[in-house]
This record gives sequence, C-alpha cells and structure tokens, in this order.
Amino acid sequence: MNQNTKDRFFITTPIYYVNGVPHLGHAYTMVATDAFARWHRLKGEEVFFLTGTDEHGLKVAQSAAEEGLTPKEWVDKVSVGFVEAWEKLGIDYDDFIRTTEDRHYKTVSAFLQAIYDNGYIYKDLYKGLYCVACEAYYQKAELLEGDLCPTHLIKVTEMEEANYFFALSRLQNDLLAWYEANPNAAIPESKRNEALGFIKGGLEDISITRTSMTWGVPVPWDKEHVFYVWCDALVNYATAVGFGVDQDRFDQWWPSVHHVLGKDILRFHLVWWPAMCMAAGVAPPSQLIVHGWLLVGGEKMAKSRGNKVDPLELVSTYGLDPVRFYLMRETPFGSDGDFSYEGLVQRSNSELSNNYGNLLSRVIAVVVSKLHGVAPKASPDSPIAAEVERLAQQAAAKWDSFAPSEALESSWEIIRVTNSYLEANEPWKMEESDELREILGSALEVLRIVSILAYPAIPTTAAAVWGRINMDGELVDQNISDSLRWGQYLGGSLLEKREPLFPRLSLEN
Ligand SMILES: [Zn+2]
Repeated sequence: MNQNTKDRFFITTPIYYVNGVPHLGHAYTMVATDAFARWHRLKGEEVFFLTGTDEHGLKVAQSAAEEGLTPKEWVDKVSVGFVEAWEKLGIDYDDFIRTTEDRHYKTVSAFLQAIYDNGYIYKDLYKGLYCVACEAYYQKAELLEGDLCPTHLIKVTEMEEANYFFALSRLQNDLLAWYEANPNAAIPESKRNEALGFIKGGLEDISITRTSMTWGVPVPWDKEHVFYVWCDALVNYATAVGFGVDQDRFDQWWPSVHHVLGKDILRFHLVWWPAMCMAAGVAPPSQLIVHGWLLVGGEKMAKSRGNKVDPLELVSTYGLDPVRFYLMRETPFGSDGDFSYEGLVQRSNSELSNNYGNLLSRVIAVVVSKLHGVAPKASPDSPIAAEVERLAQQAAAKWDSFAPSEALESSWEIIRVTNSYLEANEPWKMEESDELREILGSALEVLRIVSILAYPAIPTTAAAVWGRINMDGELVDQNISDSLRWGQYLGGSLLEKREPLFPRLSLEN
C-alpha cells in the first residue's frame, strides 16, 4: 500500500519520572498501549508509538547530588533501566523521548513562547510554604503536624517569589465547550465526568516556573526561570512529532493523538494539557484514554506498604505472554483491578493452557493420527462459520474501542464454541473422511482467526500458533480488513506434534 494513503495512528504513554524504577503500574500502561499500537498496525495504519522518561525537577537533582553525579550523568544512567524493562516486556515502541534531549528544549521553548505571545502567561508573586532543605513548596495538607516537612521534619517557612503563571482560569469555558463538542475526547465516561466536575468547580491559574532551582528547561523570555517539571513534561507529546521544528511533520500527526494514562495523572492530561494546547493555538489531543489502578489486596502499590510487584520478576517467573495476557484480560480497561498471583496462574492455566493451547494440540494430534498429518482446509459450509465471524467482528470492535478485556473475552468465546463443536462430533473417534476433514479444517481456521485477535496481547505465542498451523507469511503482516473473514485456511501442508506452547503454571514456580 502507498504510504501516503495510510491512515495515521499516534499513541503515547505518559513519560515516567526517573526518580524510581519501572513497576507494575508502568508495565500495565505499557502493555496496554503496546497492544493498541499492534492492533492498529494490523489495521494497516501507519502507527507512531511514543514513550519516554521525565528527567527534570528538584527530586532528580537531589538524587544526583546524593550519588555525587551531575543531574545529566544521573539521568543517563537511570533512564536505561526503563529502556531495558520495556524490552523484556515485549514493548514495540517507535520513539523513546527523554526530556533532557535538545529536541525537547527546542519544542518546549517554542510551545511556551506561543502561549506567552498569545497572552496566557503573566508574572506574579507566588506565595507558599517552603522547605529550605527540599527547596520546594508544600501544600498545607502535605505537611506533618506543626507544619513540618514530611521528608526533613523541619518547619517550613512562608516564602514568596516572582513566578510566571498560566492563565488556566480564562480557558474554563473553552474547555467545557471542547468536551461538549467532543463526547469521545476522554474515555471512559466516568473519567470524563471527573474532569468536567473539576473544570466546573472553577479553575485557578497555575504557577509554571521556578527560580529556586536550575534543573529544568529555561524560560525563553526570562533566563532567571526554569519551567516547572510537569509543565515541560506534558509538551513531550508535541516534541516527538516536531512542534516548532518541523511543522509539516507535526501537521501529519497532530491532533489525531491518543494519550493513554493512569487516573492519578488525570488532571494534568484532561484539564491542563488541552488548555495549554488551546492557549498555544494548537488543537487539543483527539483522545485521552484513562485506566484505573492495579491494586494489591485492595490497596495501591507503594514502596512504603511493601506490596510492590516487580513486573520483570513476574515475567521471569511466569513467562512474558501469561503476564501480558493477565494484565489485558483480567480487568476491564478504565476500572481499578486487583492484582494477585493466584489470578495470574488461574487465567493462564484456564484460558491459555486449557483452552487455546489445548485446542491447538488436540487438533494437531488428530490430524497427525487420522489424516497422516496433512492439514485439511477450512470448509465454507462449516456450521460454526457464522458464529465465529460474528464473534470475531465483536472482538475487533472492542479492540477498536480500547477494551482489551472484552476483545479477549469475545476471542475466547470463539474457542469455547469450537471446543463444544469438537466435543459434540468427537473427531478423535472418527475414521478418515470428508466429514472429519471438515471438522478439523474448521478448528484450524479458528486457530488462525483467534491468533490474529490475540496477537496484540500475546504477540509471541500467537505468532507461534500461527507457525504451528503452517500459515504462510508473518502474522504481523496480516491486515484485519480481510483476514477475519471465514475460509482462508488453505491446508495442504504437514502438521506435527510439538511440546505445549503454554505449560501449566503453579504458584510454587
Ligand atoms: Zn524538606
């Protein structure tokens, strides 16, 4: 297909703050975004999948000082940990942005200068409670009793400094009008309503610069100031597609951008970021996709609670695709979920080993024992064809609407329909015949279709099933505009029995 005629699909994750290590919450966002990107590649679209690291701010500068390194030396060291983690999770992104890159400084300067030139930034006194050891302001509610800094246990002082402010309050009506005109701008609806409630409650202008620290992007019109860390971080989405540097490229990808984010950063993305775009004269992003938290025992994971789950340890213990499958299948995207080891093992054993894996091995075993290993082709008259096509379309629609759990549920319903069909006909008791060939050809056709639908969640093993049923070409090159139609398994090649693709897991692993 000619590149110019392809639809474009730009999807992003938040950029992760380098003052920590990749945890299960990050992994959840990453796997979901990776699955959405893979789905859109199957649709034949030109996909641009962006992730990265957020590397400015006081805490980063402090950590660097503790290590005896410059901030830049320190972030160079720690950002690698994220790159390596995403490789182990099979994340196939197109660009990894770091906010300390030259390209980001250029775009932040251009973007904020545009907001300034449009009259949405002004200078005023910022007053607040300041910890001299942190060199940071605190909200009253964040302090310990007696107005003590929670980190240093010393009393904070009232401070004021001249800051630049973003005139967010003036964009309240524009934001409401934008949400009104774009009902799908934020999903799910509960999260959209949360943002609307916040906007309707009244927006205050926000301080966006600091003079009390230097580890940030300098304010182009006043070099005494640097931008506050979240303010420069949000602009990364525009940096990656060339805002202020390559306008043609920016226009190709913007504003049809989809931001995937966790609900803890809802306000930044659903209120502040669209407002910043409007103020800069740029169209707001086309869609904000908010997911819930993965809780452990009903609580948010936190270092202090000792309930942190290391995603890389999970992958090395249970295997990559069982972990990816569990993350995508267990919890409807948008709701909070509860992570458990028991749940992971149970999902993998029941749906990957017993259903998908077992269908594959039992069909191949009968082809080998009854048909000399020669795969039969899919029959157009199969009694399950219509139901399988209906469920496949349903699964595709769910992938389109960023609902991986439901997409996989419909896909596995196809497997259940097929297993019932096999149980009812007992091909393993039949002799070689056209009827036997039709039944096994139908089951092989189902394996072809389910592998395509499961591929975004479990790319490695879905491709392995694809190989074991001897499909021509790579699964990744399929185009679902026609590959989900019934009747494309051609058969004729020799199948062979192999070791199970999905070994049964146990908690003792
Ligand atoms: Zn402090």
